[in-house]
Amino acid sequence: MNAYGIRCENDVKIAEVLLDDVLVRKTMENLDRMTEKGPMGVRRRLLSSSVRLSRNMSPSVHKMADHCVETLGVDIPLELYAYASPQFNAACFKPEDGRLFVIFSSSLLEAFDENELMFVMGHELGHHVYQHHDIPVGYIANGQQRVPASLALQLFAWTRYAEISADRAGAFCANELGAVAQALFKLASGLTSEKVVSFNLVEFLHQMDEMQAFDAEPGQGPPVEDWFSTHPFSPLRVKALQLFHQSGLMQDGGIGKAELEIGVQGLMGMMEPNYLEGRTEVAKIMGQLFIAGAIAVANARNGIGEQEIVVLKEFMGEGFSLDVLNIDKLIDTLPKRIKSVKEHASITQRMQVVRDLSVVARAEGKITDNELLVLYAIADGLEIPRSLVTHILDGDAGLD
Ligand SMILES: [Zn+2]
Repeated sequence: MNAYGIRCENDVKIAEVLLDDVLVRKTMENLDRMTEKGPMGVRRRLLSSSVRLSRNMSPSVHKMADHCVETLGVDIPLELYAYASPQFNAACFKPEDGRLFVIFSSSLLEAFDENELMFVMGHELGHHVYQHHDIPVGYIANGQQRVPASLALQLFAWTRYAEISADRAGAFCANELGAVAQALFKLASGLTSEKVVSFNLVEFLHQMDEMQAFDAEPGQGPPVEDWFSTHPFSPLRVKALQLFHQSGLMQDGGIGKAELEIGVQGLMGMMEPNYLEGRTEVAKIMGQLFIAGAIAVANARNGIGEQEIVVLKEFMGEGFSLDVLNIDKLIDTLPKRIKSVKEHASITQRMQVVRDLSVVARAEGKITDNELLVLYAIADGLEIPRSLVTHILDGDAGLD
């Protein structure tokens, strides 16, 4: 098995669609033209702000890097850097002058043991091996140009699946589910000392089961969404990696790749705007709320113009006529639609709609106060914390 054989199928599929998109291509061409004039200065910045970890200075870290490079088939020279920070963090940059750069925070290097560090390193190198840096998510999301709503949602979904692929690359290098889960636990909690907390994989995964149990009872019980929105991804990632370790990709006689991908898609259902194509009753009312919400948000900006109509039509299919009259009517239906979704959809489904409306609003450019008020009103009505809205609007759009 090699790195390509374990890449997540939806990462491959959505990346193909994105690489065909006109705006994505144009942004890539612009970036290429900029780099033709000279390197973007990644290495210069790293050299001036971080410490290069030479083989002499850190033989053990280099030994781990060698293992990851070999396992994943990384084909260009690698430079490792460390920078001072109490936050656990690592990143990989798009190569420059034929060299690849991976950077670690000082606290991460000190607190993670060998296999945990190999997971983190393999994850970062995975982004390179799968050419994730080719798709300039950050540039597109933070650029000057408006991004069509459907593209914004697709980019958002893709980054989630790209992270799943990178996680698998990391797990492939670490080759020990316990260490992988422990690394994700450390990243999510910031806790490392065995004196205070001793990590337990079964119980960590149980937290996810409890979340799903809550989720299955709409309108019931104390909300867990606070926990979900501040740490949106970690338990899902561990679950997805558990499936990966149970698959034939990692052990003889494990579940097949198709079954693995179906399992992962089930988990990631929480993350995808697939309700827009959904055929269930709940998916329909979520889709209707999304449309009315998107119109209300756009209207709060500066009224619905020709451009907004083009955006909104993307979601409604051909033949949907949208004149000023039914725009007002649609906005009037908003409270009723919120109520209906509140009653019938689970917490994560409601979060999905709020999140997608926020992603679309962000894609339109700088958010106005009026738009924010509409987004907050929808979040309040669905009993989802407003922090989810601000998390999406202010968050980093790129890969982790
Ligand atoms: Zn990542």
